[in-house]
Amino acid sequence: MSEPFRTSDVSLLLDLAHDYARDYQRNLDSRAVFPGREALQNLERFSEDLPLEPCDPRTTLEMLHEVGSPATVAQTGGRYFGFVNGGSLPVGLAARWLADVWDQNTAHYVMSPVAAKLEEVCERWLADLLHLPAGTAAGFVTGTTLANFSGLAAGRNELLRRQGWDVASAGLYGAPPVRVIVGADAHAAVHKTLSLLGMGDLHTETVPVDDQGRMRADLFPRLGGPALVVTQAGNVNSGAFDPVGRICNLVHEAEGWVHVDGAFGLWAGASPALGGLFAGVEKADSWAVDAHKTLNVPYDCGIAFCRDREALLSAFRASAAYFQWSEHRDPMNYTPSMSKRARSVELWAVLKTLGRSGVAELVDGLCAHARTLASRLRDEGFSILNDVVFNQVLVSCGDDALTSATLEQLQQSGEVWCGGSTWRGETVIRVSVCSWATTGDDVARSVQAFVEAREKAGKA
Ligand SMILES: *Cc1c(COP(=O)(O)O)cnc(C)c1O
Repeated sequence: MSEPFRTSDVSLLLDLAHDYARDYQRNLDSRAVFPGREALQNLERFSEDLPLEPCDPRTTLEMLHEVGSPATVAQTGGRYFGFVNGGSLPVGLAARWLADVWDQNTAHYVMSPVAAKLEEVCERWLADLLHLPAGTAAGFVTGTTLANFSGLAAGRNELLRRQGWDVASAGLYGAPPVRVIVGADAHAAVHKTLSLLGMGDLHTETVPVDDQGRMRADLFPRLGGPALVVTQAGNVNSGAFDPVGRICNLVHEAEGWVHVDGAFGLWAGASPALGGLFAGVEKADSWAVDAHKTLNVPYDCGIAFCRDREALLSAFRASAAYFQWSEHRDPMNYTPSMSKRARSVELWAVLKTLGRSGVAELVDGLCAHARTLASRLRDEGFSILNDVVFNQVLVSCGDDALTSATLEQLQQSGEVWCGGSTWRGETVIRVSVCSWATTGDDVARSVQAFVEAREKAGKA
């Protein structure tokens, strides 16, 4: 066989990948958080024509490390605060490597008994950890976008089933109307999901939000008839939580279904210290969360939870003569996908290693660093525009032009990376403390970087 197909190469190539990974890891703290100009220009080396013939696979890996590694964003380091991107806990990463060697397809139980078993265990552990009702079903997907999709598909179909309408066979053609109610600050992923589900923005009712971006339960439209209500636990800018419990009380009195987009915030449920923030979230009907954000499981890993197991299963049922069902869990029944990688492996590994108190410590640690960062930035004359209730901090330099210029300097500094946003009409630097790797020293260095960036921006 030609070069790339020799099984004897497996060990050798894994060793090589391991060496490159060690090299990457060693340089993580000293390198720029965002790749510099030269590293980005070097990416052009990938723009070659498709090779005509096989090459030595070592050459391929070498190129990936030489050209690819320097052009990565150092998201696994301690000073990356962009978007809401989580880091990667070592045990999750290591478990993922092992599982990558297994290369399991998690569609049917018979394709991977171990992955199916670990899904079952994670489902039970997570419902317990996050105070969701016992027996809550979980589907393991790529992220919260698909987890929202899953929860909302289950909700939509169940609301219509109660009206005597079977979406699986009849689709939405001529279906009875279902009201869709979201907060004015609902995440873009929610709007995308609703449009995929045939429920576009034109028909969506929007509930006003308060100064932190929380839905105003007192300004809810009059309810009646089937309604799909989307709340959030963790506003993507401010980190604020909607009053989910109060909303559930309202909606459940009428014929409604409440979904919670809890991409990063649902993990508050694992922290006794954050119980007040989380209270009432468990009353909802479905929930979406990312393990790749706050929990620091490697990308990509999201979970859709549904109180009514049958509602989730009936949304994703499929059949074919060649399928092989078992008396165990067949993972594809819980998600929009059929073939999928064994996400449950690294999720299980992180939960098993951290345990209940370790997850609480992780979540509390992110929030504590966010509070420290906010208070030190305030000491340095920056304005903090949100109540720092979780891991999100919205920073302003007092005027929009200076804030934008400071953000640009920060992004070029290589010392930290943050994104930007607008908050209640003001330009902000948006900080998300989302990595277990962030230390007190990283927070101090980051504050210094903010001060220097503002100085440079002021002079420019
Ligand atoms: C990140 C995020 C999403 C989208 O999640 P993905 O994992 O990127 O699909 C949705 N909602 C909120 C609140 C988020 O923070």
